[in-house]
Amino acid sequence: MSNGPMRVVRTIAELKQARADLEGRGTVAVVMTMGALHSGHGELLAQARQRADALIATIFVNPLQFAPHEDLARYPRPVEADLALCEQAGVDLVFMPDEEEMYPGGEALVRVTPGHLGQILEGGPRPTHFEGVLTVVAKLLHLTRPQLAFFGQKDAQQLALVRRMVADLNFDTEIVAVPIVRDEDGMAKSSRNAYLSAQERTSGLALSRAIRAATSAAEAGERAPAVLAAARRELDAEEGIAVDYLSLADASTLREVSAEHSGPAVLLVAARVGSTRLLDNAPLVLG
Ligand code: AMP
Repeated sequence: MSNGPMRVVRTIAELKQARADLEGRGTVAVVMTMGALHSGHGELLAQARQRADALIATIFVNPLQFAPHEDLARYPRPVEADLALCEQAGVDLVFMPDEEEMYPGGEALVRVTPGHLGQILEGGPRPTHFEGVLTVVAKLLHLTRPQLAFFGQKDAQQLALVRRMVADLNFDTEIVAVPIVRDEDGMAKSSRNAYLSAQERTSGLALSRAIRAATSAAEAGERAPAVLAAARRELDAEEGIAVDYLSLADASTLREVSAEHSGPAVLLVAARVGSTRLLDNAPLVLG
């Protein structure tokens, strides 16, 4: 349960004071977001609320993880609705800084570099993306000092990288993964779904169809090549999308599994629909 009215702070000085006030309250959890909150974020907040005594949400559209041609300027920022959702979810403290507060005088000079894991998959078309993500996640972990931090499986590569950063750089925070929340038609919830026209949304459903086809094939005992082929058929059947990658990989290294692999794996897909990039993935077990 939350303990009294939600506090909203915008500066690091205020955050430090508010965080100090949570001292002695037990377990502190953080949920980091870029706002435009939906029920996927709601699920992270709900699970965090259940496990923690105090719940911090951060809302910050991090310029460092956007390339110059990407959607930073048009990224939705419905502040009032976001704060209402946080309040309903029992958030104790919202940290909602502006860019100058997070990057005084411009972008951070020293950053967290993700290595190989940041260059594959999403890192192909977005080679500086995960450096921006890890740098802001590191900053927000230092500022909020949580025992628990909740991340969505929706961004599987981000989750794997955050886990590696926390392990490799000895952050004292447990990372908790939350399964993907979907709309009734199967589409993975995303703030960027707001960009889709009705027709683009229909095309975009090919991603979740591909995930389901692959999951069924795996459940039927098929090996990696047949599982991938089942997903590929669904994607190829949809003319309105351009696939960036389809990969069946180890969940922590994100390296492609071999044709003979048995055991857990993750199927990852990314595709463009018009000017919007969509991601989806699912854990599955082979063999
Ligand atoms: P974002 O605001 O898109 O940066 O996402 C903030 C957090 O919410 C990240 O940990 C995401 O993985 C997670 N998230 C976003 N969409 C979903 C979803 N559909 N299901 C589960 N988690 C999600």
